Amino acid sequence: MRKRVAILGVGLIGGSLALSFKERTNYQVIGFDTYSDTIEKAIRLGVVDEGYTKLSQAVHHADFIFIAVPVGQIGIYIRQLAGLQLKKGVIISDVGSTKAEISNYGKMLTEQGYTFIGGHPMAGSHRSGVQAAHSLLFENAYYVLTPEPDTSLADVEGLSQILKQATHAQLVIMDPEYHDMVVGAISHLPHVIATGLVAQVGNYNDANGWFHRLAAGGFRDLTRIAASHPVMWRDILLSNRDKLLPLLDDWIKQMSDFQQAIDRGDAEWIETIFARSRDLRQGLPDKKRGLLAPIYECYINIPDEPGLIGQIATLLGEHKVNLSNISIMENREEVHGILRLTFRKLQDYERAIPILEIAGYTTYTENTKEDHHVHINK
Ligand code: NAP
Repeated sequence: MRKRVAILGVGLIGGSLALSFKERTNYQVIGFDTYSDTIEKAIRLGVVDEGYTKLSQAVHHADFIFIAVPVGQIGIYIRQLAGLQLKKGVIISDVGSTKAEISNYGKMLTEQGYTFIGGHPMAGSHRSGVQAAHSLLFENAYYVLTPEPDTSLADVEGLSQILKQATHAQLVIMDPEYHDMVVGAISHLPHVIATGLVAQVGNYNDANGWFHRLAAGGFRDLTRIAASHPVMWRDILLSNRDKLLPLLDDWIKQMSDFQQAIDRGDAEWIETIFARSRDLRQGLPDKKRGLLAPIYECYINIPDEPGLIGQIATLLGEHKVNLSNISIMENREEVHGILRLTFRKLQDYERAIPILEIAGYTTYTENTKEDHHVHINK
């Protein structure tokens, strides 16, 4: 009998995990969802081999079980699994964006003699549902596992190995509390800020439509993540309450310092914080996929000439480089005609740069974007 992996919740993350297992392992992939429509769609799209709307049928004989439903539902499924007769040696994990609360729920499984190891693949998208699933979603991304101190090393190793093989992600082991603090600062807090900013400007726009008509460049870049799934984010913020409240205190203090510096006309303070943040921003690793940067991208300045975009797409196509998207970044403050090329795979990104350079285009990445000396020189 082939080994079996059961995925509970076949949406963006569950579906992508299912596709990764189907493509790179010989496991039988079983899907579970409460809606028969979702399961039928997952089977029709070839995301799972079999699908069920009854939990006990889906997890029967499973060697690995991944819970990929919204954070607020994960504890409910852990409780239900703890009451079922599962295969001896089964390893249960989840993909939830918070870890301390879920690891606590996991104790219900360890008390029954099962192994639970929390997990968080740090790649995603603002899209949701099985139709957005992709077998390359986790490639090169960090995938955090949060075992308890008493979790067997062999089980941690077993889960890491199969995930590495299926997803090609980089596995990282972390304490659940520490995970929530770090991810709270670099993902959850930014989602709160982006959402708050869009809501604030939305209120101004209700009185004067020019706010939205002129919204471009920095505003669009900064608020991309405000288009995320409301239910998923409701659950994440409530689950990570303990870490988010002090992070928000720090943020409010940061904004208050800004407000006071502007009020007293403190040019030096303002310049210093912009200079420090510019240095920190430019020092961020830019080639690794993370929650806020799910793709590899490079930029080219282009003059306003017809046919150039087609030429670049054709050039890369002739060299068999897979370009995932090509777009013109219009209306960026003080910068005109920037072409953004995005790639799903690091290899494509790394091959594209020399091809474009040899063809006479000057490329640059996020970190060098501020250097406006780069121009197309065809
Ligand atoms: P999603 O695309 O909306 O998928 C959620 C799936 O769970 C859907 O198939 C949904 O089924 C199903 N579901 C919802 N409530 C359920 C319930 N009560 N019982 C059974 N199935 C249920 O969301 P997602 O982005 O994959 O997120 C899933 C998990 O991944 C969340 O815990 C999230 O924190 C985590 N995560 C998300 C990201 C990201 O960027 N999206 C990144 C890392 C981790 P229906 O469609 O039939 O309702």
